[in-house]
Amino acid sequence: MSEKSILEKFNAKFPGKPRVFAAPGRVNLIGEHTDYNDGFVFPMALDRYTFVAIAATNDRKLTVFSVNMDETMKIDLDNNTEKRSHWSDYVSGMAFVLEEKGYRIPGADILLESDVPVGSGLSSSAALEMSSGLAFLGIMNQTMPKADLALLGQRAENKFVGMNCGIMDQFISMHGRKDHALFLDCRSLDYQLVPLPSDNVRIVICNTMVKHELGSSEYNKRRAECEKGVEIMSKDFPGIKALRDVSLDQFESVESQLPDVVRRRCRHVISEDDRTLASIEALQSNDLVCFGKLMNASHDSLRDDYQVSCKELDTMVDIARTIPGVLGARMTGGGFGGCTVNLVNAMQVENFCMTISSRYFQVTGLEPKIYVSVPSDGGHEIGV
Ligand code: ADP
Ligand code: MG
Repeated sequence: MSEKSILEKFNAKFPGKPRVFAAPGRVNLIGEHTDYNDGFVFPMALDRYTFVAIAATNDRKLTVFSVNMDETMKIDLDNNTEKRSHWSDYVSGMAFVLEEKGYRIPGADILLESDVPVGSGLSSSAALEMSSGLAFLGIMNQTMPKADLALLGQRAENKFVGMNCGIMDQFISMHGRKDHALFLDCRSLDYQLVPLPSDNVRIVICNTMVKHELGSSEYNKRRAECEKGVEIMSKDFPGIKALRDVSLDQFESVESQLPDVVRRRCRHVISEDDRTLASIEALQSNDLVCFGKLMNASHDSLRDDYQVSCKELDTMVDIARTIPGVLGARMTGGGFGGCTVNLVNAMQVENFCMTISSRYFQVTGLEPKIYVSVPSDGGHEIGV
């Protein structure tokens, strides 16, 4: 998608000369379901963006057209207090949280278009929040630190849209950097951009093309189960606030006191934090084989202990692991459908893409979409 095509589409619908902002989707390499446990994550921004073309008006109305949805939505900023359970909630939610902070948006014509697959676990939602947040700030001639806008996006999704997500998606959508993945401490929001080698390996994302409706209710259940684990273990370890504060050794010394389901959820999160830390070390010593093994272990733990995988994700991962040149394969994102992420030798990528597509189709009857991705820059204005 180009700036030119966005401008043309905007001009066909609206008067005025727009500015264009973009923010990417993301893929999480490792560190899954750890963000809301104050833990560690290691995502990268995708080379797929949501573009927002925006021109200010002075009528306190937002007129928002999504090319993807082929639909226009009107939002009255003087009466923008509740979600409508509609895609426009992500845009009105950003307007809401900005106005809550004291900003006053004059009104705007907006055209948006995304090449982040929508609803596939690659965070088209955060891409939409961050691109529209940047666009609103832009027309008000305001800026704010990237982390602050990420937090506002999370607030919009939690409080306005009603999805209790952690901070990872918005944070990486703002802080992504070409050729780097981002190691984030979700408690302190300290982060480190870690170079991803691009000469010998590729990140390949495989979309299962399914999304099971269980997703958001199970997500909230997992959060509650983790909190239960913290509550029980805090009798032995006073002062712990989140699973991030419990070491594997501590966990193993008290795990027999936990109900079985809670025990498994905690084991996933605590071991996943360890794997994420180990994966950064592996990458820094250029040990990609080790990095791949940690990805595999992450998937197995999400499947067996956290129980957020599904038949299609397991099938995609199982097939990937039989293909030559695959160093690691795991589900990525919340689970119950969406995508897998694979670390594949660059020389064998073409064969990987062909083989996984045909075998996944043979087993499931579904044609997967495959994206070979490179780490890219976070949210920014285009053409300045
Ligand atoms: P994910 O973030 O993994 O893509 P979510 O369910 O969190 O999945 O967010 C997807 C939702 O975000 C869509 O159902 C839609 O409401 C909204 N959305 C994302 N991108 C767009 C877009 N380009 N146009 C309109 N709505 C979008
Ligand atoms: Mg999302």
